[in-house]
Amino acid sequence: MPKLRGASVTSRRPCPVCNSHEAQYLHTMHFALPETSPLPANYNVVVCVRCGSGFADSDAPADAYNEYYQSFSKYEDSSVATGGGDDPADRQRIEELADFLSGYLPHSARIVDIGCGNGGLLSTLKNLGFSDLTGFDPSPACIAHVQSKGIDAFNITLPLNNMECSSFHPERPFDLIVLSHVLEHVFDARAVLVSLLPLLAVGGRIYIETPDPARYDTHQFPPFYFFDPEHINHFGKGSLAFLADSLNLKILTIDKKTLRLSNGTHYPAVFGLFELSHLNSQREITGESVYGLLANYLEESRLGINQLKTRILALIGDGTPFVLWGAGSLAQRLIGESWFPLDLLQAVVDRDSKKQGLRFAGKTIVSPEIGLRNLPEKTLILCAAAIATGRIEQDYCSLGLPYKFHLMV
Ligand SMILES: [Zn+2]
Repeated sequence: MPKLRGASVTSRRPCPVCNSHEAQYLHTMHFALPETSPLPANYNVVVCVRCGSGFADSDAPADAYNEYYQSFSKYEDSSVATGGGDDPADRQRIEELADFLSGYLPHSARIVDIGCGNGGLLSTLKNLGFSDLTGFDPSPACIAHVQSKGIDAFNITLPLNNMECSSFHPERPFDLIVLSHVLEHVFDARAVLVSLLPLLAVGGRIYIETPDPARYDTHQFPPFYFFDPEHINHFGKGSLAFLADSLNLKILTIDKKTLRLSNGTHYPAVFGLFELSHLNSQREITGESVYGLLANYLEESRLGINQLKTRILALIGDGTPFVLWGAGSLAQRLIGESWFPLDLLQAVVDRDSKKQGLRFAGKTIVSPEIGLRNLPEKTLILCAAAIATGRIEQDYCSLGLPYKFHLMV
């Protein structure tokens, strides 16, 4: 029987912030995933009653997410990834973060970036004069890339296990641990932080940045954008404060910020800087709930997906063949919809080399050069990317093909 919004449920996955299983149900997401993806094809969006954090609830084990980040990392392909500092908007975001952090630390500080991707933040800190820098990432290709820039980098999965922790337990512990856009992806955020705290010096700091559920919106992003297969935690300012208080981290600041993406859209984020303290928190810890924020966002998303449905069906008409450019989360959500005209789909193309060769929506994902050959005359190209759409449109135009190209967002 379908659940009602707001119904009390016992979650299958423990809350990633406080480990409680007491939750309120909001919505069920369905995705069409590449055939070998270890992630679940559906999950319930729920909100923890105890600490107020939102999260994706499913039967999928922690290992599914570890396997995904080791094998499917989109962050290692610099043609599609963010975090490497390769496009101007990404570079600006990284430079602003590096400037902010450098205001709190001397150049001798020992810094580790967790989930460092291609090392954009570490390189920028190096250019600012920091010399004791380390990166951790689950993707071996990212680690090799960072090492090639002359920066120490280690292949790890989160949370660190005891062996990893002791091998990194240094004579000189870290002065700063950076977790920028990492905790929204991990199965157990609390366990990740607990495993990292032994690496931090007394008085050392932790920087955490995640998307901000108070400003999820459907005007700049496709509907349900913030609920994708790998964005499984929704931490508001209250969740960050709860995590800090319950782990005896002193809150230096918690605030919101806005990141500019390469297509000019503004991405909402919340961040906190915390200091390792040995004083026990005496206060009663409660979190501010994201329930109302997520409920409003889901309502807007439902309206948005109906508009997208009207638009796609008007373009396709009774039988226009089409190709999807992009096999990311928007395509995965659209194909998960029962009305989607899958029988007219000719091919799925994507520039991400990690996606090429995977079976998806009954096709094999291929490069545009291969997938856009020998198509029926009136084929439409539907771009199912949510960001970097301008770059994709230019990319398509440079191929000199006769088919009409439509952005979905
Ligand atoms: Zn909780």
